[in-house]
Amino acid sequence: MDAGAETGHFRRKAAAWGQGTLNLLFPPLCMACRAPVAAAGQLCAQCWGKIAFLEGAMCACCGLPFDADPGGEMLCAACHAVPPAFDRARAVMRYDDASRGLILAFKWADRLDLTPGLAHWLDRAGRALTAECDLIVPVPLHRFRLWRRRYNQAAIAGAALSRLCGAPFDPFVLRRVRATASQGTMPSAAARRRNVAAAFGIAERRQPSLRRRTVLLVDDVHTTGATLEACARVLKRGGAARVFALTLARVVRPHEAAL
Ligand SMILES: [Zn+2]
Ligand SMILES: [Zn+2]
Repeated sequence: MDAGAETGHFRRKAAAWGQGTLNLLFPPLCMACRAPVAAAGQLCAQCWGKIAFLEGAMCACCGLPFDADPGGEMLCAACHAVPPAFDRARAVMRYDDASRGLILAFKWADRLDLTPGLAHWLDRAGRALTAECDLIVPVPLHRFRLWRRRYNQAAIAGAALSRLCGAPFDPFVLRRVRATASQGTMPSAAARRRNVAAAFGIAERRQPSLRRRTVLLVDDVHTTGATLEACARVLKRGGAARVFALTLARVVRPHEAAL
């Protein structure tokens, strides 16, 4: 064994030993229920079985899952009637009782340890979108909300996704120009649309970076799509050619929307 190979060998051994020691000190836990698992960023078998990953047949535009596979590229009735402002939207999992806890923990409870696992899921679910995007942009929080919450979970997830897929990340493209009431408190889809209609703007200095680009918006939950559409509209007005949206979860039936 020459000196270089020997160093590499010992380095790998040391790294493995270090990981083993870390696992002894901080055993990897299930992202959802904190039961022991084999490696960090995983779910235990029980939690894995409960999460509804959105992988089957879906609307080619908004990603709404279809109960049966219609074959080929099909649009759901809503996208067929009124094409959304974004070009394509995809989500990792269905927003339901099983995923709600994970999302809320990531959003409110300082569970930033979930970031690598969630980013890995975003990377997998969004592969078709990240392959074609030039820029990853998170849905911004208004500065008051950012101050209260201390971090923007969409920006954390977007930055981690960027490291995995290689597309550049820019959290300063979109700005909240108006503080809005939480979308969760809006009584209807129309109210959600009105609430965010003029909430976003483009940072003027970033406008040249958008021209004719494909932008991937990242957010935590796709509820009615009102926020994603409001962002997509200003990005397109700012020069973006296409806007994709990738979220951790998606509401499939509106009555499941309560956040
Ligand atoms: Zn679990
Ligand atoms: Zn659709």
